[in-house]
Amino acid sequence: MEKSLSEQALQSRFHDLEENLKIVEEQISAAAERAGRRRADITLLAATKTVPVEVVNHGIEAGIRCIGENRVQELTEKYDRYRKDLADVQFIGHLQTNKVKYLIGKVSMIQSVDSEKLAQEISRLSVRAGVVTNVLLEVNIGREANKSGVFPEQLEALLGAVSQMPNVCVQGLMAIPPAQAQPKETFAYFNKMYHYFVDISTKKIDNVNMQLLSMGMSEDYPLAIEAGANMVRIGSALFGARDYTKTKSTRF
Ligand SMILES: *Cc1c(COP(=O)(O)O)cnc(C)c1O
Repeated sequence: MEKSLSEQALQSRFHDLEENLKIVEEQISAAAERAGRRRADITLLAATKTVPVEVVNHGIEAGIRCIGENRVQELTEKYDRYRKDLADVQFIGHLQTNKVKYLIGKVSMIQSVDSEKLAQEISRLSVRAGVVTNVLLEVNIGREANKSGVFPEQLEALLGAVSQMPNVCVQGLMAIPPAQAQPKETFAYFNKMYHYFVDISTKKIDNVNMQLLSMGMSEDYPLAIEAGANMVRIGSALFGARDYTKTKSTRF
């Protein structure tokens, strides 16, 4: 998969990552403070698509405790070499039902559940493997045609269905607002998500542990935290611009 980097290139990426991590940490703390919350209540997930394992592991050694891959094949290729003794590995990308089998028992959470069919398969294979798989339900908050996620009005029905399925536990919600939006508009999307999150939390549905609101990426994570996110998924602000030429076809 990824070509190996020269020792010099690697050292330079390690250095950049350490500097970027400091900045991201400062920004998370500052946003949390503005929102009257604590840094400790917010989980930083590093989005690691296209990033070589050595670089990701360096980040883990520097304190990153949670990473997310978004393609099954790339996850499979990198999985064994990750420092899983120190970090949680999650799946954050669009997932096809026929690929679920590669994730069960490996990832601690699947953040992108957006259909009953997908949840059924996660349930079926989790039962078979004797594990419980944590999931987030993905909401297409901007109602974009080519984006994964359920529309907000479908969320309750999906939640009701998934909550009945054995060996799947809903831990919260995930969303990616439209990429081209102005900050004000983005904040409004985040805010809507927060309201759905709180609404559902107060309903106390059996087998639903509504505790994570995963939203905010490199361009907008401070806004997301101010709106109530408690997990941000950050790629390029940590690892630099993605170089898709060094990996197999990766779409995002
Ligand atoms: C790539 C990715 C991210 C991080 O994107 P950046 O803009 O690089 O921070 C977050 N979430 C998902 C689902 C991703 O695929």
